[in-house]
Amino acid sequence: MNAPDARQGGLQVWAPSVVPPVGVDLTDEQALAVAFRHLAAIGFAENLAGHITWQPDGRTDMFVNPWGLWWQEITASDICVVNPDARVVRGRWDVTPAIHIHTELHRARSDARVVIHNHPYYVCVLAALGRLPELVHQTGSLFLDDLCLVETYDGEIDSASRAADLAARIGGANLTILANHGVIATGRNLAEAVYRAASIERVCRLAYDVLLTGMRPTPMNWSDMAGVQRSLVERAADVYWAGAARLTIKADPAVLD
Ligand SMILES: [Zn+2]
Repeated sequence: MNAPDARQGGLQVWAPSVVPPVGVDLTDEQALAVAFRHLAAIGFAENLAGHITWQPDGRTDMFVNPWGLWWQEITASDICVVNPDARVVRGRWDVTPAIHIHTELHRARSDARVVIHNHPYYVCVLAALGRLPELVHQTGSLFLDDLCLVETYDGEIDSASRAADLAARIGGANLTILANHGVIATGRNLAEAVYRAASIERVCRLAYDVLLTGMRPTPMNWSDMAGVQRSLVERAADVYWAGAARLTIKADPAVLD
């Protein structure tokens, strides 16, 4: 992203003087509940599968969704807190051992403050084929040099040691597709991770439709994509999040309860 021959982009090129705000001050739990509802609303969630964890800066415990609730029904008071060993330390619900995918990734990656995992449909089409999406549209630049494919499926990640192995295979990537399974998106904050999660499903859907044509897509230059990547991360993620939050709260203010 920072190679010398990359085109500039992002806030170096243009920084907005003002951006539309969320409109209300959200607690961490409220913000996370909004993230679940938004990603469910755009088709990212397979009913009750998957998790979002958020380990705020300087903390070792993390917010997470409980076992058994669908993403589209979660409210702020449903959010639980687990410690680094995946034990529930606060909350009225239980949390599945599958959460180890998240706790071990947080342990390995100080930059991954938010980890999102689920099984969105078009990601899963490519995951069933054991392949990453070809980046053939501007928005795909978000994932330039930042994609990882875990090629083998070997059952549930239900222990810390299996999850630590998976974290090692993911390395520094912010977006990983797990063959025959789903996706893991990470970010330095909630806005960044949600933006990656929302974008990868669209990127995979487009790549799949392009594949179906049987024709060769027009390639993009790495340098141009690097500039766009900066713009998307530095400029688009925050405003995407604010808009997603406004729409989600408007659709059902009870998400904040
Ligand atoms: Zn899963």
